[in-house]
Amino acid sequence: MQAQILNLMRELQRALGLTYPFISHDLAVVYYISSRVAVMYLGRICELAETAALVERPRHPYARLLLDTIPDLEMSGRDRAPVAGEVPSPIDPPPVCAFHPRCPHADARCRSERPELRPDGGAEVACHAVEEGRLP
Ligand code: SF4
Repeated sequence: MQAQILNLMRELQRALGLTYPFISHDLAVVYYISSRVAVMYLGRICELAETAALVERPRHPYARLLLDTIPDLEMSGRDRAPVAGEVPSPIDPPPVCAFHPRCPHADARCRSERPELRPDGGAEVACHAVEEGRLP
């Protein structure tokens, strides 16, 4: 049923030239239906990119973490960072980077200043570490 609905949406999109805002937690469906993706964490966009570019090279630490949750069917043996820390309350998210309690790259700036979306390659990313070029 889900596949039929998605295929119908794509057909209508092609036939009528539509744009859909499509919200999902299912990364496989997002990859199938979307040409451009906004990754959100606690109500804020942390990365905005073409879908293929995001899957190929996620920049924001949360986007990386999300993509690391996809099973590696090729069993490449690449390292995956374990998820640590607590998710802040979505009712009262921190006024700084909301991902900082779980981010392995958080520093003092992350705990005192909210990152804004900035261009990075063809994407836009809200992350101090990306802006400072200190991510591997
Ligand atoms: S701004 Fe800091 S805490 Fe937030 S995702 Fe980037 S490195 Fe991590």
